[in-house]
Amino acid sequence: MRLPVFSSKFTPNAVLVVLINFSAVYARTATSEADEAQITDPVEECTAYYYAPVTDALDGFPTIWQPATIVSNDTEAQNIWANISQSVPTNILPHGDIYGDWNDTSYNVAEDPDCWWTKSLCTTPKLSTLPADVASIPEPETMGYGFDDGPNCSHNAFYDYLLEQNQKATMFFIGSNVLDWPYEAMRAIDEGHEICAHTWSHHYMTGFSSEDAFAELYYSMKAIKLVLGVTPTCWRPPFGDVDDRIRAIAEGLGLQTIIWQYDSFDWEEQSGNITAAQVYTNYDNFIARAENGTFNTEGSIMLTHELNNFTMQTAVTYYPKLKDTFKYLVPVGVALNKTQPYVETNYSLPTFDEYISGNVTTNSSSSSSSSSNSTSSSTSQSSSADVPLIQTISSVLLASITLGILMLAV
Ligand SMILES: [Zn+2]
Repeated sequence: MRLPVFSSKFTPNAVLVVLINFSAVYARTATSEADEAQITDPVEECTAYYYAPVTDALDGFPTIWQPATIVSNDTEAQNIWANISQSVPTNILPHGDIYGDWNDTSYNVAEDPDCWWTKSLCTTPKLSTLPADVASIPEPETMGYGFDDGPNCSHNAFYDYLLEQNQKATMFFIGSNVLDWPYEAMRAIDEGHEICAHTWSHHYMTGFSSEDAFAELYYSMKAIKLVLGVTPTCWRPPFGDVDDRIRAIAEGLGLQTIIWQYDSFDWEEQSGNITAAQVYTNYDNFIARAENGTFNTEGSIMLTHELNNFTMQTAVTYYPKLKDTFKYLVPVGVALNKTQPYVETNYSLPTFDEYISGNVTTNSSSSSSSSSNSTSSSTSQSSSADVPLIQTISSVLLASITLGILMLAV
């Protein structure tokens, strides 16, 4: 849906005032991935838009941003869960709640029977059938480069920068964000970034029942499949909150668990608990470790985000320093030589050797044509409400604007 565009050349001032007032609550909406990628005003970037494949499929998903449960009539999900649940340990109970409140738990951290990362930084499961988490990078002097919590609606400047640098990264996408911002998600995969899941609603996974934890992972994968056409094979637990019960569910879904060794704490700056300067210090300390040889035999991963403009700007600010200090910055999957990043075989990642010799792209990413026709601006900040709601709001606003113009014409 696109609003009519009015030229100021023939618009009386009174009409301009009305239009400005209307534009304060309704900005131009994007109509394609390429269109959205051309927008430079962050506020306008975050104007919700209508994308039919998502709208048409919403009945098959939990409510966006709400903790997931299996959708009542989703027999496919029910059957997959019935199968996976047989290998999920029943002697590991949920820890606290999904909001990270563990006041009522009496977990034995010293023994750490569940390999609960949040308490012990355990990455080698106690359950022998499970593979170890990926927390570091086998390649020396290499950083596994990636960002959590996307796709962020205002990420164009950041993605433009990565494109200019010919730098690929691993993007850990939240399912609800993918459905809210499908064009932004498309941009990531089309520009050669690796896509991993980051759950449906971004809560503490060990607080969920096993079935609901399955739903958190399953529907995030389904959202990525719907919008991008691929099924991820990797995921990162929000807050790193994972134990062997959750790992078993992820393993059942074919998801490799990716953690980190260092935390930039860029995500916490918005809460006011830490300052920007402290985040810069964390980056500086990570770089200092690289300089002093800490990663000379094994590379590393630092937790960073595309959560907000601060985290993305900080990533841009520090990119040259990271690039100078580390020998290689590569997507995590590339560092692992994981050439088939998705279940579908029509995408492949370069090997580590291919990547560092200059072949940095997947072998089948689709092209993004340029078709910018941005004409209007807005001062409004849209919510991340679901698409049908926005579509409804858009219809009402369009009718109101049309009515306003007609009244002025009279
Ligand atoms: Zn996150």
